[in-house]
Amino acid sequence: MRAPLALFAGALLMAAAATPVANAQDKPQDTEVYQPVPPVVTPGPTDAAPPSDALVLFGGKDLGHWVNTNNKAPAGWTVANGVMIVEKKAGNIETRETFGSFQLHLEWRVPKDVTGSGQGRGNSGVFLASTGAGDAGYELQIMDSYNNPTYVNGQAASVYKQSIPLANAMRPPGQWQSYDVIWTAPKFNADGSLKSPAKITALHNGVLVQNDYVLTGETRYIGKPFYKAHGPTPIKLQAHGDPSPPISFRNIWVRRLEP
Ligand code: MG
Repeated sequence: MRAPLALFAGALLMAAAATPVANAQDKPQDTEVYQPVPPVVTPGPTDAAPPSDALVLFGGKDLGHWVNTNNKAPAGWTVANGVMIVEKKAGNIETRETFGSFQLHLEWRVPKDVTGSGQGRGNSGVFLASTGAGDAGYELQIMDSYNNPTYVNGQAASVYKQSIPLANAMRPPGQWQSYDVIWTAPKFNADGSLKSPAKITALHNGVLVQNDYVLTGETRYIGKPFYKAHGPTPIKLQAHGDPSPPISFRNIWVRRLEP
């Protein structure tokens, strides 16, 4: 009986090893990818005033649609001159409203005087679904990727640590960038298992950077992605802790693609 028992124990160990949860020995570097580097594409002009049926989440005046992710208090970011500026100490903010699948437009700007390098240069992010406190959810990366190499599955327009963008369409710091995103929300069965995965199509400054990419789970800093069941969720913006000057946002609107 010993051999079968040992085999059974071995199978259990293999199952445990395959469980996609961050283990104590996992390191952030384990999931960083450096090749292939996306080609650099110089974008043309982009302009996207909200269409008539859009819900405007930020129109330049106030943060009425936004709350602090962790405590749901009013969003503590700054509004000045028609733009929203990340207040890093205040933490991530997210929409009061929740969404399933949607079309999203947002514009963001790395400050001209940005400092730092790699992930520590103008880092923020838009989480297409915020599934909890902190950085829980699915992040489309925002950072300065203009002549600023980092792991390519973490550069601007990557699905963080999942999908390398098809191109690097960055404008230089000080100029406005646009994201247009078609987000298909994941669906879950009543028992919490995955019914259909999340998908994303995204344009950066009018250039296709994610083409119907099927996500393997929530984006994670450490360890492999995996899904946890959730219903409709807010859209979240990241206050990243890097010490570089904060980025700004403007002209954020969304169109629901399901009730
Ligand atoms: Mg980020």
